[in-house]
Amino acid sequence: MRSGRSPAEVRLVGVTKTVGADAIPALLDAGVRDFGENRWQHARDLLQSPRANEATWHFIGHLQTNKVKYVVRHFDWLHSLDSPELAQALSRQAVQWDRSLNVLIQVNVSGEQTKSGVPPCEVIPLLRAVVGLPGIAVRGLMTMAPKVNHPEEARPIFRQLRTLLQEARGDLGLPDLTELSMGMSEDFAVAVEEGATLVRVGRMLMGT
Ligand SMILES: *Cc1c(COP(=O)(O)O)cnc(C)c1O
Repeated sequence: MRSGRSPAEVRLVGVTKTVGADAIPALLDAGVRDFGENRWQHARDLLQSPRANEATWHFIGHLQTNKVKYVVRHFDWLHSLDSPELAQALSRQAVQWDRSLNVLIQVNVSGEQTKSGVPPCEVIPLLRAVVGLPGIAVRGLMTMAPKVNHPEEARPIFRQLRTLLQEARGDLGLPDLTELSMGMSEDFAVAVEEGATLVRVGRMLMGT
């Protein structure tokens, strides 16, 4: 790889929000093992696929409290934790269903008003509030870069997320805080160079 990183260090999350359940077998046969969905209503249809249980499911969109129980039961990862209240609701449901959920804190690095996620200064306070809750394992950080004309322009955003992760890991002494979910169709190559461990690719993979 151009980044000098081993392919095994980076997981491709295929974002399936634009396709139907009938696309799942071909994606599995092509070697995609991780699927990302940003809406429960759509995910519910894809989870009907007879082979859905061959995949690892990632919830990557904003999560409303009334959908927490579904996400806990059907997903392995949540990329969009943004409040202590949501973490507590996830933890309660995870304990109830005897599930364990990997969670990433979504960070609004660029500060755009339209983006969800917590500002960088709130990452450590939020981590302190959620580390140790039963049923959820905080594994790292996620961000969405702003729309840019050239992928290079997203690089400072990705770099900042990596720095935040390193600081948080050191400050809180959390060796398992290793995951960086960053990069989409337009800019995943730059994100990988900056340390992404999970890239969320939709259009480029699904061909729409
Ligand atoms: C849709 C989506 C993606 C994938 O975007 P593409 O540009 O289609 O690759 C990644 N992350 C999130 C949170 C999304 O909603």
